[in-house]
Amino acid sequence: MNSTLKKAGLLLFTALLTLTAQAQEKEKKVRWKIATTWGSTLTPIITGPENMARYVKEMSGGTFEIKVVPANKHKAPMGIFDMVRGGQYEMGHTTSYFWKGKDIALMPFTTMPFGMTAPERMAWMEFGGGRELMEKAYAKYGLLSFQGGNTGNQMGGWFKKEIKSLDDLKGLRMRIPGFAGEVISKLGVSVTNIPPGELYTALDRGTIDALEWVGPGMDIKMGFHKIAPYYYTGWHEPGAEAQFLVNKKAYDKLSPRHKAILRHAMRLAAYRMYIEFYHENSEAWAKMKKDYPHIKVRTFPKEIMDRLRQANEELIAKYSAENPLFKEIIDSQRAYMKKAREWTIISDLDYIQGK
Ligand code: CA
Repeated sequence: MNSTLKKAGLLLFTALLTLTAQAQEKEKKVRWKIATTWGSTLTPIITGPENMARYVKEMSGGTFEIKVVPANKHKAPMGIFDMVRGGQYEMGHTTSYFWKGKDIALMPFTTMPFGMTAPERMAWMEFGGGRELMEKAYAKYGLLSFQGGNTGNQMGGWFKKEIKSLDDLKGLRMRIPGFAGEVISKLGVSVTNIPPGELYTALDRGTIDALEWVGPGMDIKMGFHKIAPYYYTGWHEPGAEAQFLVNKKAYDKLSPRHKAILRHAMRLAAYRMYIEFYHENSEAWAKMKKDYPHIKVRTFPKEIMDRLRQANEELIAKYSAENPLFKEIIDSQRAYMKKAREWTIISDLDYIQGK
């Protein structure tokens, strides 16, 4: 390269830097807060909003900063929806299925029993109409909702006693949120949702006999296995997606550049959380087998699985009849899953099974 070209390149580079710096200077400095359902030690789910905030700061050159306020600080893990809606916090990180008592149509954006796996769900969100339906469901609350990271397939939970038949479920007290809680309650289980920070104590004191949390990556650290050694495989949360909630009025006030930075930061943090869960689960599963041989891994007997599927269908039919938007979302998910599942089976499943 001759020196004239070099000089021209250098001039252009300097001009671009100046323009970016000027754009940042003119941009109003923005300081937001994000409230999370999770406490500060609940990795890797708390890592999602922490990474998002870090990316926003890095990409904006410090003109946009978001402070993460974990549940142990704000003390309202189940209050995220109301706090973000009311503008107390500009953002929240939580899961949509916690709000089924407010609006059943918000629920399917986290996960559905016997529903889509994480890659199937992520593809539906992006290309199958999921994002548009999520926008529609949240619009009436003045909220925007974005994908906040997927936990992957979750384990079915920890039980103090082995579950051998439908009778063993009758009267059992279990923490299990979302649609799955309603489904299993039809089998005689007394269902409750307890905030993450109180789970161990509830199990230890006998307030509950069983609970589901996430997967080995998060569960083992909580110590549930010390009290309830039967660890069941999942049916209820095959690809649970967390959500970033954003107050729409606050979002509308952002500059176009800050809006783009926020959207890209959320997306990158969600991707990273998904693979971090995969990693943590794989590591913990290997360690669990070696360090905690008393843990007994089980799968529910067929008569229970059949009854769960049946109860799931009955409840979907009931809520679909009551709520047209719920029906629209479920129909969209099911139509997408029908196609995607054929591919999942012929690609990953058959490959793994050596067919
Ligand atoms: Ca769970």
